[in-house]
Amino acid sequence: MATVFEMIVKGEIPSVKLYEDDDVIAILDINPVNKGHSLVISKQPYPVFTDCPAAVLDHMMEIARRIDLKLRAELGAEGTNIMINNGPASGQEVPHLHIHVIPRYKGDGKTPVFNKTSYDEGEAALYGRKLAL
Ligand code: AMP
Repeated sequence: MATVFEMIVKGEIPSVKLYEDDDVIAILDINPVNKGHSLVISKQPYPVFTDCPAAVLDHMMEIARRIDLKLRAELGAEGTNIMINNGPASGQEVPHLHIHVIPRYKGDGKTPVFNKTSYDEGEAALYGRKLAL
């Protein structure tokens, strides 16, 4: 079944469009964390980050960068959260790659909370060896 973003890309359901080219569309999120919360969406329905070719990812990041600048210039955003929920385990609701660009203001109370953990003695080095590229 087509994702909601495929339907938006095809123009089957409405959206507020900020940008479009052959590979990418950017729209306003329908339920913004703060007003102006934007989504940069690949036109191809790649489910997750690693399914997407690097050149398209680079391009999506450039559009996210331009939206970030616009949010600061037009809405006075003091910061942004730029994030990808990548796979259902991370909280991704729509299985179609998209970058959130969320305008943030000091004291807006919208900071996402991650409950952090810590490493046991020597464990960080082990993880470091395992994950070194
Ligand atoms: P994620 O949890 O990263 O998959 O986020 C999906 C986002 O898509 C959520 O923030 C939704 O508010 C947003 N969303 C869902 N349907 C629409 C829609 N029709 N138009 C714009 N944004 C949408």
